[in-house]
Amino acid sequence: MSGSDSLEELELRAALDSIQLPDGSALGGSGRVAGLNISGGRVSLSIQIAPQEAPLFVPIRDQVEARLRALQGVTSVFAVLTSERAAPPELTIRTPAPAIKPDPLAAIGHVIAVASGKGGVGKSTTTVNLALALRAQGLQVGILDADIYGPSLPTLLGLHGKPGLAQGRKLKPMQAYGLKAMSMGLLVEPETAMVWRGPMIMSAITQMMADVDWGALDVLLVDMPPGTGDAQLALAQGTQLAGAVIVSTPQDLSLIDARRGITMFRKVDVPILGIIENMAHFICPDCGSSHAIFGQGGAELEAARLRVPFLGAVPLTMALRAASDAGQPVTARDPYGPLGQIYQQIAQAMLAGLTTMPRAQSPGQT
Ligand code: ADP
Repeated sequence: MSGSDSLEELELRAALDSIQLPDGSALGGSGRVAGLNISGGRVSLSIQIAPQEAPLFVPIRDQVEARLRALQGVTSVFAVLTSERAAPPELTIRTPAPAIKPDPLAAIGHVIAVASGKGGVGKSTTTVNLALALRAQGLQVGILDADIYGPSLPTLLGLHGKPGLAQGRKLKPMQAYGLKAMSMGLLVEPETAMVWRGPMIMSAITQMMADVDWGALDVLLVDMPPGTGDAQLALAQGTQLAGAVIVSTPQDLSLIDARRGITMFRKVDVPILGIIENMAHFICPDCGSSHAIFGQGGAELEAARLRVPFLGAVPLTMALRAASDAGQPVTARDPYGPLGQIYQQIAQAMLAGLTTMPRAQSPGQT
């Protein structure tokens, strides 16, 4: 809505003007607010800061969210701190810096990225079924859908509505099939997110991790945006990842992308837990026969060549697609059926690759 003088925008700007920065100036006129957007009652904006100003600006961001949320017609507010462009002049600090907050992810055993070199290879489908397989093994599991360009978690898990607020002004994760879930798609309009660049995506996602009341989790799977560009690199770099798994289809082209993904994670010292080959072969729904449409064993060979574990192959089946589209993932419906078993084996292979056991004390309890 930038540029338009709608009543809503004027109200938002007035509210931003009423927020004071530590040097006494108004946030509204400071030139720090960018990407102000309102759509269907949902407001998003970013506040430009220099990296060293983050502790000062966290309470200001909280104030912005509270102030805007109080406006009539506003249903949710998502404000991110970002240092994507040349740093604004540093503030003269008049108030003491707030104490460093405890690590919001301390109760999460392992944060694991699920990545792919390109879209459409089944990364989200794999993330959901892998999460359900880990859950079936008694672990507490969360999914963070950071695929800002095409958040599909709400569809895959049949999530409806908006996340509620938990204590401490955090967001309550959604619940489905024993999983905790949060998706960018539940918070930000897709057209807003599409124009975000690397550092904005990264700060939105790390903030989303911290602002969700995940509770104790053994594993948090992060469904990454597809590709290996700046946004993905920034995210891999800025998130405390225990490891990454790469989803690839067997075609050469897709494997080239998978290679790029591996290179990217290696660059930022994130261990590669392995490659999952999706749509490895086609299972005929009529006769049950298997056809290696895209060739056979490509991903496994590639994994060996790149010296990363091959975690397993998932066939291309009508059942998988239909279940995902219906919001009833196969591994939830039938965890010990043929597909469920494949995901369980992949989950076990992935866990075996983690150097330490999950940190949260009691798997199976919240
Ligand atoms: P990505 O997250 O990589 O963009 P998705 O998980 O959204 O990909 O999958 C893209 C499409 O392919 C979806 O319609 C999904 O149901 C389908 N799909 C994914 N994996 C399989 C599979 N193994 N068999 C059949 N359909 C699949």
